[in-house]
Amino acid sequence: MTSVALTIAGSDSGGGAGIQADLKTFQELGVFGTSVLTAITAQNTLGVHAVQSVDVAMVTAQIQAVLNDFPVKAIKTGMLFSSEIIEAVANELKAYSAIPLVIDPVMIAKGGASLLQNEAVIALRSHLLPVATLITPNIPEAEVLTGQRILTERDMKLTANRLLSMGASAVLLKGGHREDVPYAEDLFMSTSGEHFLMRSKRIATQHTHGTGCTFAAAATAELAKGRSLEESVVTAKNFIQLAIEDGIELGNGQGPTNHAA
Ligand code: PLP
Repeated sequence: MTSVALTIAGSDSGGGAGIQADLKTFQELGVFGTSVLTAITAQNTLGVHAVQSVDVAMVTAQIQAVLNDFPVKAIKTGMLFSSEIIEAVANELKAYSAIPLVIDPVMIAKGGASLLQNEAVIALRSHLLPVATLITPNIPEAEVLTGQRILTERDMKLTANRLLSMGASAVLLKGGHREDVPYAEDLFMSTSGEHFLMRSKRIATQHTHGTGCTFAAAATAELAKGRSLEESVVTAKNFIQLAIEDGIELGNGQGPTNHAA
């Protein structure tokens, strides 16, 4: 049977991140992708030039249209932009708590553009973190969510524990922003007590646009296929490593990772 996943995220007109990255990743991993648009960005490899959020009623209508009909087996959220949208998403997903939910707490694009209003962090923390099957912050996002500075592997473990105590069932803390180590090391930790590190070679490239979205989308696709959380994050780590190694030189700025690598 066809596995179906849903992404609730923002559009990247440049096609490397956001809903486009999610759908391409789902497709590559053999999963049928459905999508709910929360915001539109006018974006290319040089950055985000404009942002407009989608009306909350329209976000709600899209979620209902998809979930009332499709046999969705995993859901991912990306750019949610405002506390109103976060609250609406959390409210709509209440009736679907049996479906694994991956929260990618998207905040700021690599170029510096804000993809989440400052006050919306509180809504993210109180409405979505407690219902997350898996939350996938990078280091700056984890620091904002917990107020904890992350400089070392020990800090990563403390922060992951803090995120679990805030309600997430599992955490994939992405360590690619750490500057003290010559590799990219991500930490998986779950409330069942399981935890492991995934280390990979750091790749010198500027074509890393959309890495966060792609990593979380790959884990969501694997969950939709019925894989365990642990298997899903390991497959996703391999997928993103290949996608970065094969990053595409496109446009005049930071090119996208290659979802078809
Ligand atoms: N645009 C959208 C719609 C996104 O969801 C994201 C990240 O989640 C980005 C842009 C940022 O991508 P990056 O920081 O990898 O360039």
